[in-house]
Amino acid sequence: MMDEKTRDDLLKLFESKLNEAMRLYLETCTRCGVCTEACHVHASMGQVKYIAAYRAEIVRRLYKKYFKGRGKIWPSVGEARELSAMALDELYEAAYSCTGCRRCMVYCPFGIDTQMLMSIAKLLLVGAEMEPEILTLLADTSIEKGKSIDLFKESFMQGLKRLEDEVVSKWKLEAGETAIPVDVEGADLLYVALAGAHSIIPAAAIFNAAKENWTLSFFEAVNFGAFVGDPTKTKLILDRIVSEAKRLKVKEVCICECGTAYRVMKQLTGKQPFKVSSITEVHARYIREGRIKLDKTMVDGAVTYHDPCQIARNAGVIDEPRYILQHLTDDYRELTDEPRYNWCCGGGGGLVAMGEDTLDFRMKSASVKVDQVNATGATILATACENCHAQLSNLNDHYKMGVDVRFLSSMIADALIQS
Ligand code: SF4
Ligand code: SF4
Repeated sequence: MMDEKTRDDLLKLFESKLNEAMRLYLETCTRCGVCTEACHVHASMGQVKYIAAYRAEIVRRLYKKYFKGRGKIWPSVGEARELSAMALDELYEAAYSCTGCRRCMVYCPFGIDTQMLMSIAKLLLVGAEMEPEILTLLADTSIEKGKSIDLFKESFMQGLKRLEDEVVSKWKLEAGETAIPVDVEGADLLYVALAGAHSIIPAAAIFNAAKENWTLSFFEAVNFGAFVGDPTKTKLILDRIVSEAKRLKVKEVCICECGTAYRVMKQLTGKQPFKVSSITEVHARYIREGRIKLDKTMVDGAVTYHDPCQIARNAGVIDEPRYILQHLTDDYRELTDEPRYNWCCGGGGGLVAMGEDTLDFRMKSASVKVDQVNATGATILATACENCHAQLSNLNDHYKMGVDVRFLSSMIADALIQS
């Protein structure tokens, strides 16, 4: 049983999400069914609960009960539903089987945004302390790091020192140049990486090759607050980077290969004295301006590219990776769907970060992605998002796809021509 105070508190959270767009999404669905086949989860697993409109209905029934006159919008369909412990279980099932890829949205004639509707479900779960604990833990760790930067500065710098030789092995520097600059006031570009050498080494080599005046952020780009659907934590995590960018007076913040980090940074920072770019956009720019040159012989095998949903469909970076790939290979094979309609890899929305707990579901729910990649006959599967890379690697192992899953940035770094 849910006590009255808890219910009232949760309903306040629900109400906080009710802006004009959200109300429109909650009131517009005509149950036309166009979105039925749009969701990779339903297309792969075929259960009604995985249809986008069904997920939305779980939230909509609560809206109908508490925020809308009964039967006003839906005279014959959609029961109003009491907010109870059972309703919260349903919200969990709906929200954490949705990757927030928004493929359904591009099919829906009204552009109903299921990801946005699921953000209500996620917020209610946070309010009820029923969200995946690991996501909150990771979000809190990021926030703590922002508060006590001095504590970890030294070990961070020592860790970077160990990476410098590898950066130089990809791009030789002149004497006195720094392989991984940090905390450089007045740098043109602040690069926000992920924790891990794979996110720093290739990027650093490429910035150095392009003679970029850059500096590495102290913070990791990933925003677990966004994954868990907690707006306060999302903002706190984001603000660490915004403050650093302002303190260093950079002109551009470049987000590493992390889809959610890029979309959150691009769409939630508001007006700032710097521009926000994805690393893929920056790399395409370097090629276009002749600042880096690539050796096509370094890529051995046919290549296909998986568009990360949050970078391509949801943030419009579609041409740039293709432009880069033209300079990396003569055997590029497009996936069957047009990029905007690309199947999600099945790992977004925090599912990859939840690790083994979601592995079985992630494998079952993304079989359409596997078929799409296999149909190209490519042996290299490139992508530009950490989450997608992890999920595609899991799919590769699970379904024995026999592809080499690569980060686009790493392919570029390996093909740099030292002039
Ligand atoms: S396509 Fe849009 S309107 Fe049609 S059922 Fe799906 S969400 Fe509702
Ligand atoms: S956002 Fe993606 S995962 Fe969620 S219902 Fe729509 S198509 Fe499915």
